[in-house]
Amino acid sequence: MPDLIPAPQMPWFARPAAETSRRATVVGGGVAGCQIARSLAERGWQITLLERHARIATEASGNRAGVLTPKMTAEPGWGETFYRQAFSYAVQQITQLEAAGHRIDWQQCGALQLAHEPREAARQQALRERGLPNDFIQILDAQEASAVAGIPLTTGASYFPQAGWLNPASFCAALVAHDNIEVRTETAAFQPIPSEVTVIASGREADQWAQTAFLPFMPVAGQTSRVPVSAYSARLKTTLGHEGYMTPNVGGQHIFGATFARNVREAVLDESANITNFQQMQHYLPELAGSLDGVESAHAAVRMTTPDRYPVVGALPDVAFFQQAYADLRYGNARQKYPPAQYQPGLFISAGYGSRGLATSGLCAELLAALMTGEPLPVQDTLYHNLHPARFLVRQLKRG
Ligand SMILES: Cc1cc2nc3c(=O)[nH]c(=O)nc-3n(C[C@H](O)[C@H](O)[C@H](O)COP(=O)(O)OP(=O)(O)OC[C@H]3O[C@@H](n4cnc5c(N)ncnc54)[C@H](O)[C@@H]3O)c2cc1C
Repeated sequence: MPDLIPAPQMPWFARPAAETSRRATVVGGGVAGCQIARSLAERGWQITLLERHARIATEASGNRAGVLTPKMTAEPGWGETFYRQAFSYAVQQITQLEAAGHRIDWQQCGALQLAHEPREAARQQALRERGLPNDFIQILDAQEASAVAGIPLTTGASYFPQAGWLNPASFCAALVAHDNIEVRTETAAFQPIPSEVTVIASGREADQWAQTAFLPFMPVAGQTSRVPVSAYSARLKTTLGHEGYMTPNVGGQHIFGATFARNVREAVLDESANITNFQQMQHYLPELAGSLDGVESAHAAVRMTTPDRYPVVGALPDVAFFQQAYADLRYGNARQKYPPAQYQPGLFISAGYGSRGLATSGLCAELLAALMTGEPLPVQDTLYHNLHPARFLVRQLKRG
């Protein structure tokens, strides 16, 4: 029987024992699966990555271009730290992959988040007062934002000079181009879990396993649309964010959107979603929209989200053990001692990336690889706890 740990040390988030095996199967060839495959391969693991489709990066990670940008909150906190750290990691990782000779289709063109509504304007004002470094974020008025964007804008914006757009498929291809990674396409994994050590990174199917069914994921289907660049829109130099986003010229097209259909697990291309995307652009960027012709093509997929909007990264808890060992949490006795967490052997997850997976999945993969190998974690403990796969169970137990 392991030593009991006092409640303030949160024994329910105790780290799993490091894996002794150096072989793992990763289920899912989206950006989450490719990232964890890479992080483990770099540590000398032999990885088999299973993808059910003929190519990797076809579902949520099959978007022609997504925006790579951090998410800021008015007040500093662990959530903002997570996004900032993850964003810096992603930019550094892409730069290093390029320096090693990989071709990644992206552009570090900067991103402007328009102050498109009063709440966003207030957030930007609060950010201005925090005096954050200029090479990370600048709060611009409409005139300054227009100069950066290359087209006239009617509102101010927050500007992230290191941000940009990224083609996820090219990123995924670079990540799995490693001697220690074998990619098996047209290979769907089924129950039982395929190997001694397995990482579930199966996007919208992340809760379709007996071992993960307890996780409160929510699928949100969405569509991005693509229009040919016009003479006017070719002047756009950065990505633009409002309620949705718009890229500058990406291979002769702008990618814009996206729609949000909550609790929809199937993604089907839908003409009405293109109309919604176009109307949104007309609302926030009328001159730009007026210069563009009809939608040429689109991409529909499902993002998996969670009730607190953060991904689920770590070892999968032994649910029966948690329910029994931590049942007293509902009494809130801070002096009580509890046994450390127990996990489902060899089973890990990296999923629930919502609308931010391009920026966040790399740091999360580093966190997971550090957990699996028993290294110091690359993030603060608070952050690890807030991404922990048992956090929803623990919150439920505390509520009784
Ligand atoms: C319309 C839209 C716009 C977006 N825009 C942005 C953006 O601008 N910026 C941003 O950062 N993020 C954006 N996102 C979110 C981002 O795309 C996701 O967070 C990210 O792609 C999630 O990656 P994933 O690997 O978890 O999922 P996926 O890319 O869906 O990958 C999961 C993979 O697992 C495979 N799989 C499932 N089950 C099995 C099985 N049993 N066996 C084998 N393989 C299996 C699937 O086929 C799939 O390839 C957007 C998402 C959508 C839908």
